[in-house]
Parts: sequence; structure tokens; C-alpha cells
Amino acid sequence: MRRILVVGAGQSGLQLAIGLLAEDYDVTLVDPRGPEEIETGRVMSTQCLFGPALRRERRHGLSFWDDRAPAITGVGVRVARPDGDPEPEVDWVGRLEESAQSVDQRLKLAAWLRVFVQGGGRFLRHRVSVEDLATVGRDYELVVVAAGRGELARIFPRDERRSPFRAPQRSLSLAYVTGAEAHPAGGVLSRTAVPGAGEVFSLPTLSLVGPCQAVMVEAVPGGPLDRIPGAGASGEEILAGILDVLRHHAPWEYERFAEARPADSGATLSGGYAPTVREPVAHLRGGNVVLGMADSVVANDPITAQGANMASLCAEVYRRAIVDHGRRPFDETFMRSAFAAYWHHARQVTAWSRVMLSGPPHVWELYRLAERHRPTADRFADSFSDPGGLIDWFLHPERAMEYVDSVRCATGSSHLPIS
Ligand SMILES: Cc1cc2nc3c(=O)[nH]c(=O)nc-3n(C[C@H](O)[C@H](O)[C@H](O)COP(=O)(O)OP(=O)(O)OC[C@H]3O[C@@H](n4cnc5c(N)ncnc54)[C@H](O)[C@@H]3O)c2cc1C
Repeated sequence: MRRILVVGAGQSGLQLAIGLLAEDYDVTLVDPRGPEEIETGRVMSTQCLFGPALRRERRHGLSFWDDRAPAITGVGVRVARPDGDPEPEVDWVGRLEESAQSVDQRLKLAAWLRVFVQGGGRFLRHRVSVEDLATVGRDYELVVVAAGRGELARIFPRDERRSPFRAPQRSLSLAYVTGAEAHPAGGVLSRTAVPGAGEVFSLPTLSLVGPCQAVMVEAVPGGPLDRIPGAGASGEEILAGILDVLRHHAPWEYERFAEARPADSGATLSGGYAPTVREPVAHLRGGNVVLGMADSVVANDPITAQGANMASLCAEVYRRAIVDHGRRPFDETFMRSAFAAYWHHARQVTAWSRVMLSGPPHVWELYRLAERHRPTADRFADSFSDPGGLIDWFLHPERAMEYVDSVRCATGSSHLPIS
């Protein structure tokens, strides 16, 4: 049996570890937190997963929440007016062809970790250091680092060509709450853009308390939304800060969340990180090489709700690459080619995230078009399931204008809001 070490029991590490166990690999998984610490810890994400990632989990027998997690059937877009007007300038919901779902990672990762151990996987509770990787790593034929965006990711050199940001582009504040009302259109991942200042997201989710709502503010640092208390603040203080932002900048969301309370003592999160792409291979002292996975090597801002979806894809791409590699050595060439297969998809999300962070004029044009043209709204919603097609009509200004013109010709509508 080939011996494989996976560092980090998050979305990607667990999915890969369980997948390889099922293929008869000898898998060791290391994380400082066991199931109990994960369950009693803080929320980590809003982890809205779309069709392809959910299908992958079902295929691998890892989808335990289908009957309890609220179905997310659409993506809502609102654009706030600059003067704080109580009505948004743009307001529509695009339908998803396949429902999406959010299951609190505290529920999911704790359950998956138990599945891994019950299936015969070896789990070690330990925070892995660079030194550990250089020494213990030698006992394994392949070491995969799936440690998220933390310290350990720094062993992978930053890819300067693909990493234009040195600082966080958004200050993130998140709360899982009870006592909020549903979106008027039902199960919707709702996104309010406050031009130049950031975004407000909300979505139904399944958390420790059962079905509830999550609300997140992405504030441009130093801007008018960036006034939510961060490090050291209590859950109540973070939620109060979020509600204050909603009241002033997204009153339609405030109406829904005014009576909200934190869902549990770990239900809030605040922070930020610089979106970064890294080299997939790290060379350690003594000549060991290790392979980076998911956020450890490609960390985008959550503005496009894609990180967990991409972590799921990365685990699948790596699992297949490992199995297809047979008995051959897992050398640097293997690692770079496994990552290249992943990057082929991940680069689309990196490009999309950059466009969404900067909010260029053509994006607002497309939002206004979608309000009057349902196929555009639905196409945008389905891009969350498959961002690959965005290059044809959304990412570049010229293509976007071509698309807008083509819709105008096809519908014969001169009153579409095209400037
Ligand atoms: C506020 C917020 C909202 C988000 N919303 C969404 C969304 O709606 N949809 C979406 O798709 N994505 C979303 N994301 C992104 C998504 O959560 C991540 O991209 C995804 O979880 C990354 O998976 P991963 O496996 O790379 O790392 P993680 O899931 O972060 O797991 C990393 C694991 O490594 C462990 N670890 C860390 N250091 C070490 C070490 N030294 N030794 C051993 N183990 C270690 C950690 O304990 C953790 O268990 C969001 C992120 C944030 C911050």
C-alpha cells in the first residue's frame, strides 16, 4: 500500500483522505483539531456549495445533510444606490439549474473526520511545522499540504505573476443567526453590492442549531462598511456591527435581520486575508518536496463563494492524478502536472474574483441588463456552478458589451438599459 500524508482536515484534505482510503491507500491525516474541537469551535466560512461539488460529495457517499440543509435555488443581486436610498437600484434573482446548499463546516468536517477514522484512516492530532514536514515527511511517498491559508502555506513560494494583492481586499465579518426572516424569494444566496464600499451576503444554511441564516459583510478596508469590530469583539458585538452596516447600506437586508441573534457562542467570525496564488511545490530541508492543495496554494477572496467548491474540485483532481499515476514515484513532475490540471479551472475563479473585487463599469451594465432579461440573470446564477463560461461574456469589457448588444438585437429591445 502506498503511504500518503495529508496535512489539514478541511474541505479538501478530508475529501482527498477519504477518497484515497477508499482506493486502498495507506492514509495519515493530521490536524490540530479533532471532531469535538471542530464542533465546539468557531464558524469558518459560509461554504455555499453548488451543483458539481454537491454531486461529487454524493458520489463519494459524503452527503449526509440533503434532507435537512435548506435548498438554495437562486442567486440574488441587488445594487445599493449611493445616497443610501431605501430601494436598491437593481434587484433580481437568477435561478440555479441545480440547487446549492450550505452546511456549516463545523458539522461537515467533524462528521467526515469520524468517517475517515471509522474507515480505517490514521488521524493524528497535531499542528504540523515546517520542521515536521522535513523530517516526518520522508516516511511517506507523497505529502499533500491542505492546511488552508494559515502559516504553513508560506512554505509555497508566492507566484508573483498571479498575485497582484499584498493586502486583504475586504474586511470580512460573518454571523450565523437565528430569528432572521427568509429572503422574499425563498432559498436565495443574496448579494448586495454597495458600489466602491463592498458587499453584503446572506444565505440560508444548516448549522449546529438546525436550519438558520448566515449574513456576511465584505468591507473595502477603510471604507464606510469597514466599521464592524474585529479581533477581541464578542459575537454580540460583531453581529451588532453587521446590523449597523445593514441598516445604513442594505436596509432590505436589515428588515430581515433586525431581530437576529448569534446562533451559538462560536457563530461569528471576522478577519481578512490577501488573495494569493502560490507555487504548488515546496522544497524542504533535506530534499523533500511536498504538494500544496486548495487554499494553501490558491486563495481567492470569498466574494465569488467559490473557495470550498474549488477545494472540492482540487481534491477530486488530485485523487484522480494519484490513482492514475499507479506505482510511479510522486516526484516534482507529478506534482506540477496535478496542480496544472487544477489550475486550468482555478484560474477562471481567480480571474472572476479579481473582476468582482474591482467592480468595473461593464459589471454594472450586465447587472442592469439581467434585471430585464431573465436568461442573463439565470446565466449569472449558474456561473456559480460553472465559472468556466464567464470568460465568454462577463470578465472582459469588450466581450460583455458584445453580449449586451447581442441580447439587444435578439430581443429587439431598444429600451434595455444600455449606455
Ligand atoms: C468568511 C468566509 C466565507 C466563505 N464563503 C464561502 C462560500 O460561500 N462558498 C465557498 O465555496 N467558499 C467559501 N469560503 C472559502 C472556503 O471556506 C475555503 O476556500 C475552503 O474551506 C478551503 O478549503 P481547504 O481545504 O483549502 O482549507 P480549510 O477548509 O481552511 O482547512 C484547512 C485545515 O488545515 C488545518 N491546519 C491549518 N494549519 C495546520 C497545520 N500547521 N498542521 C495541520 N493542520 C493544519 C486547519 O485546522 C483546517 O482544518 C469562505 C471563506 C470565508 C473566510
